[in-house]
Amino acid sequence: MEKHAFDPKSCWDTFTRPKDRDAAYALADRYIAFMSRCKTERETVAYARERLQAAGFAEKGKAGNIFRTLQGKTLFAMSRGKKLKAGLRLIGAHGDTPRLDFKQHPLQEQACIGQAKTHYYGGIRKYQWLARPLAIHGVVVLESGKTIPVVIGEDPSDPVFTIADLLPHLAASQADTPLSKAFEGEKLNLILGHRPLEASKAKNKEAPKEKIKAQMLELLHRKYGICEEDLYSAELQAVPAGPARYVGLDSAIIGAYGHDDRACAFSALEAFLEAKSSDQYCCLMLWDKEEIGSEGSTGAKSRFFEYCVLDYLKAQEPSLAFSDLMLATRAISADVHAPVDPDWQELHEKLNAALMGYGPCFCKFTGHRGKYEANDAHPEYVAWLRSILNKAGIPWQMAELGKVDGGGGGTVAMHLAAYGMNIIDCGPPVLSMHSPFELVSVMDLYATKLAYTEFYTAK
Ligand code: MN
Ligand code: MN
Repeated sequence: MEKHAFDPKSCWDTFTRPKDRDAAYALADRYIAFMSRCKTERETVAYARERLQAAGFAEKGKAGNIFRTLQGKTLFAMSRGKKLKAGLRLIGAHGDTPRLDFKQHPLQEQACIGQAKTHYYGGIRKYQWLARPLAIHGVVVLESGKTIPVVIGEDPSDPVFTIADLLPHLAASQADTPLSKAFEGEKLNLILGHRPLEASKAKNKEAPKEKIKAQMLELLHRKYGICEEDLYSAELQAVPAGPARYVGLDSAIIGAYGHDDRACAFSALEAFLEAKSSDQYCCLMLWDKEEIGSEGSTGAKSRFFEYCVLDYLKAQEPSLAFSDLMLATRAISADVHAPVDPDWQELHEKLNAALMGYGPCFCKFTGHRGKYEANDAHPEYVAWLRSILNKAGIPWQMAELGKVDGGGGGTVAMHLAAYGMNIIDCGPPVLSMHSPFELVSVMDLYATKLAYTEFYTAK
């Protein structure tokens, strides 16, 4: 490489010591366990709550090392440093993932099959959800206020669910339909049952009109004590069933549902806990609703973060102005990035594209077509970030998502940038993003966790 040129480094060539490899795989094992269990924002926040409590963080505390949650879907955590007026070190990731939400009137039967109607959440490619085992995760809230957690399809003894796909023999006209029209949202109906209720089990011993639906309701009542009306106050989500797995002969990749953005949520949580005694005030946010535009009371456009920081300031250092704190804050919008897909290389502009295995990826701006709706990180801030990672010997890369005018996307970065803080997107490359089985490199996950820890602790 020419003397003055920048030569990105592969994590595989960097972390060659057995000590590093062992640490990377120990992290990957923990991550696989986390990913196999946490498939919704609620489950992700519940996991973070357990880890924070075990590390001595006080829930609903006012000052010091504390955390708070909202609706069990979004989380704010803070660890005490030395000088609050130096600003926060903030990492924000999201715990929601594209999936199929149950409709409020989900149950129907047609052609001897019992189904749940769904409305997809976030950017899915509909065909990827057909003909594969799916699990149901979520909650049902009763009139009494009692919340019933639901997970069916993960235990090997559980049944799973699925959406039937059309057989090729009858798909001639579908095959000639453009992809955007070939798969209809209203056909994403989850198969829940097939067996009719026996007349002897029915109310008044009279067979109901819809016997399969009646049997599904009977089973739900038996297992969870719920009735059809309870489904109106439920959030049930169909997600890919089964555990996360290593992929490849060399087990160098992790395959799972929801690396976007639980790879970042997990590495940020690990880094946050490791940086507990940092001189910096460290803040961790896990947001909900990023996949649908950061809307709602639990999304990054909400005031939750602001409320939490204001309360913290009042208890910890009431003389410090909120605006001064925000202006001094340095933040990472922790979100995954699309690396060059080996089979779709023509969609990337390779000089500015990320590669699997080359470490966490900075994305100076997101947005689309002429940088619309983008946060555009300031060069002074990028310079500081690269200086701390270079000093620590952590590989990183700088990339843009796809070709100019080739697409684009948004993250939580622009909503936080509105406070005046310095912020940039940074996360590991994820292949097959938004699919039911996304791929992340073991080494990128490791390097991302190291980078986040460095960010939390650097001077
Ligand atoms: Mn994301
Ligand atoms: Mn996404």
